[in-house]
Amino acid sequence: MTSTQNLIDRESLFLGGEWVAPASGETIDVINPTTEEVMARVPAATAADVDRAVAAARAAFDGWAATPLADRVALCTAVSLKLQERQGELADLIAREMGSPLAFAVGVQTALPVMSFAAIERMVEDLPWEERLGNSLIVREPVGVVGAITPWNYPLHQVAAKVAPALAVGCTVVVKPSEVAPLSAFVLAEIMADVGLPPGVFNLVTGYGPVAGEALAAHPGVDMISFTGSTRAGRRVSELAAGTVKKVALELGGKSANIILDDADLERAVADGIAKCYINSGQTCSALTRMLVPRASLPAVEQIAAAVAGQVRVGDPFAADTRLGPLVSEVQRDRVRSYIARGPAEGARLVCGGGEPPADQPRGYFVQPTVFSDVTPDMTIAREEIFGPVLVLIPYEDEDDAVRLANDTDYGLAGGVWSGDRERAIRVARRLRTGQVEINGAAFNPLAPFGGYKQSGHGRELGPYGVLEFTQVKAIQL
Ligand code: NAP
Repeated sequence: MTSTQNLIDRESLFLGGEWVAPASGETIDVINPTTEEVMARVPAATAADVDRAVAAARAAFDGWAATPLADRVALCTAVSLKLQERQGELADLIAREMGSPLAFAVGVQTALPVMSFAAIERMVEDLPWEERLGNSLIVREPVGVVGAITPWNYPLHQVAAKVAPALAVGCTVVVKPSEVAPLSAFVLAEIMADVGLPPGVFNLVTGYGPVAGEALAAHPGVDMISFTGSTRAGRRVSELAAGTVKKVALELGGKSANIILDDADLERAVADGIAKCYINSGQTCSALTRMLVPRASLPAVEQIAAAVAGQVRVGDPFAADTRLGPLVSEVQRDRVRSYIARGPAEGARLVCGGGEPPADQPRGYFVQPTVFSDVTPDMTIAREEIFGPVLVLIPYEDEDDAVRLANDTDYGLAGGVWSGDRERAIRVARRLRTGQVEINGAAFNPLAPFGGYKQSGHGRELGPYGVLEFTQVKAIQL
């Protein structure tokens, strides 16, 4: 049963420690993708609002950077505790605004942000804040005012992954969340006020990417842009940031390969591979969307994949047995369907699923869990990020061919290798041009550096590497 609550009206932006009216009265509707109804309205901030936010962040910077590290860390810990207190409310919001099944919204969408703020305390002691190198003292300093632009697929996690380390090192931030799923960011702003964060250290502007996002990326008062989203928008953000030579960190798209070697346990590998492709309805940048299969095993893999995908329950995010909720928006649903239509048109064979909505979902932006086989590397569905529950099976001839196919992509975010021989799998993992690789379905590590090679971006998020990303290095000769 879908949770029903009244329309949420968020009329203000959080600037300089206060909730203030935006410069224009224009608002953005937030649509619940399960019901297709408007569930909230948020301000459409303009460049003038971004100016105010950046001015507040600039004014707060010197004081915050000079605040003792232990005090900044204590505030991060306090934020983590408040997030935990409000986790149920946040999970409910995320389940409604972007369609995440409730269990996933609790266990991943809101658990990761709690962890990102909590982890700061454990990490900071071991970081190289000061080092000696010959006659130099090397010191780490905060990069300055950070503009954080984030997507809708893990709406609170993406914000927390930037804000927690930025605040910890002494940066001040202006967050521009996705217009599609902005609501959890408002709760985070309330929490920042609750824990007593000094005014201007955290600022929130909601608005459209080409308006508020571009104003932030180009702003001369911003020292660094940390962007997560599509490669297309990341490229534009880089161009705008180049005008004032700001530091830029980009976490972009992916088309990650999952190599099933010929000595792998097929049942386990394929079942796990399906789950890693369909996670968050396939709306995950690091989803393992290309399964590379020994040619001789292709019929067996198809059979297992069809059986596993057939058992994935699609439906209401609030139903206990739902594994896949709807896609986030009508635009996203239509985009995924058009890729599904393109598969057979370019010669791929549909194993299961397809472009029709699931028979038992008369409304909502649902897409069937889909698998294509006989996919070749030149096909659109093998090259482009689909961002929906669509797996492509690509046959390979031998290990070298598998590595060549895995690396034959503009992206380089993640990957997987399955083998009965762990050392062999690690050897193959080392040959992949990606920022992460998991062996035999190993668990996601929220402290490991996360980020891409090639057009998946640059810079790393999460854990100690993610903290250092928000620092500058100064050498003082003695
Ligand atoms: P998106 O369209 O690129 O949007 C991401 C953010 O950028 C949103 O806040 C968006 O605002 C803003 N934006 C859009 N155009 C902009 C512009 N010209 N200038 C400045 N900001 C702009 O991506 P999305 O559809 O939200 O998210 C899906 C994409 O994110 C996928 O490609 C996925 O792979 C990628 N992603 C990557 C990672 C990673 O860590 N590598 C993680 C998650 C997602 P609006 O909401 O107003 O459009």
